[in-house]
Amino acid sequence: FAPWKDPGQTPLIRFENVIKRFGDFTAVNNVSLDIYEREFFALLGPSGCGKTTLMRMLAGFEEPTSGRLTLAGEDLAGVPPYRRPVNMMFQSYALFPHMNVADNIAFGLKQDKMPKADIDARVEEMLHLVKLEQFAKRKPHQLSGGQRQRVALARSLAKRPKVLLLDEPLGALDKKLREETQFELMDLQMSLGMTFLIVTHDQEEAMTVADRIAVMNHGVLVQVAPPAEIYEQPATRYIADFIGEVNLIESTVTACEGEMTRLTSDVTPSPLSVAHPCEVAAGGNACIAIRPEKLRISLDPPPEGSENIFAGKIWDIGYLGDLSIYHVELACGQRLKVSQPNLSRRVARPISWEDEVWVTFDPDAGVLLTR
Ligand code: ATP
Repeated sequence: FAPWKDPGQTPLIRFENVIKRFGDFTAVNNVSLDIYEREFFALLGPSGCGKTTLMRMLAGFEEPTSGRLTLAGEDLAGVPPYRRPVNMMFQSYALFPHMNVADNIAFGLKQDKMPKADIDARVEEMLHLVKLEQFAKRKPHQLSGGQRQRVALARSLAKRPKVLLLDEPLGALDKKLREETQFELMDLQMSLGMTFLIVTHDQEEAMTVADRIAVMNHGVLVQVAPPAEIYEQPATRYIADFIGEVNLIESTVTACEGEMTRLTSDVTPSPLSVAHPCEVAAGGNACIAIRPEKLRISLDPPPEGSENIFAGKIWDIGYLGDLSIYHVELACGQRLKVSQPNLSRRVARPISWEDEVWVTFDPDAGVLLTR
């Protein structure tokens, strides 16, 4: 599960045993993490998990209670925000309403007393970068939400920071524009060859843009990996459930045969096999995690002697155009979620409400979780 592009392996940002307490509340609990040069890195987690606090420590808006934070080898302890080679783009964009686009972009450069000719050149370069050359003289209220977002981006990049921090940058955009902008951000990050760190609670956004994702919960890093690994090999039940949809089948291990684990479960009389080594011995408990698209559904019973079978009744069907989502209720009352692509316009006999169905999966479709 390597990232799809090579972000390089030189750590740029290093959190070492970083703890942040507010009074007796621990918001960030002993985080150690390397973020590489040219990496698009996402901090993902539910509200209150500590992701913004982690980012704010990097920006210098908060100091760690203990631990060490370095950027390109420099210890950041006591370095004020304006002296750090990072810039943060906020969800609110925080544009100055009375200044036009060019002046908004130039603001930080003027404060740094950059010569006027250099400022003009840099502003032009930034306008070109975010494709807003025609809008230099407009005020923020004369722009669309997506354009305002790009001005904010240009302003954050104008000082050429080593790291761009993006705090829920696309939260204010509608779904379609958000998806388009995600790809624009990826293009921008790649063409600039910079490190981008994004904080989001939107798992699809993190999966789309990031080379690696750190999933946080209660101030702790639960898993740090490329998106495909987080999705296909979640480390815990929490991650399996938090990232995408999942079916969790509580089971008992009957045999561990190298890469293959045999199990039984109260939810089906069928023997179960999962192509995943098991961390517990025979007799121990494990949970089989299977994504909805990795289950198959049929009105016809599987051949005699098959494994990995659940018999149930259709409880609900959601038609999404490209996919249909089936909720299948098993005899024990547990419901499985199955998603199937709608490949043909014609269906011989569509599955409908109350149908008796069989749900099956291949051994390598499931993951075993013991935490
Ligand atoms: P969200 O997505 O809602 O912004 P988050 O994961 O970014 O959540 P943080 O903003 O990092 O969460 O906050 C983590 C915890 O620390 C929260 O419980 C929050 O209430 C608490 N916290 C953050 N800043 C402070 C502060 N200055 N004083 C006291 N508690 C704080």
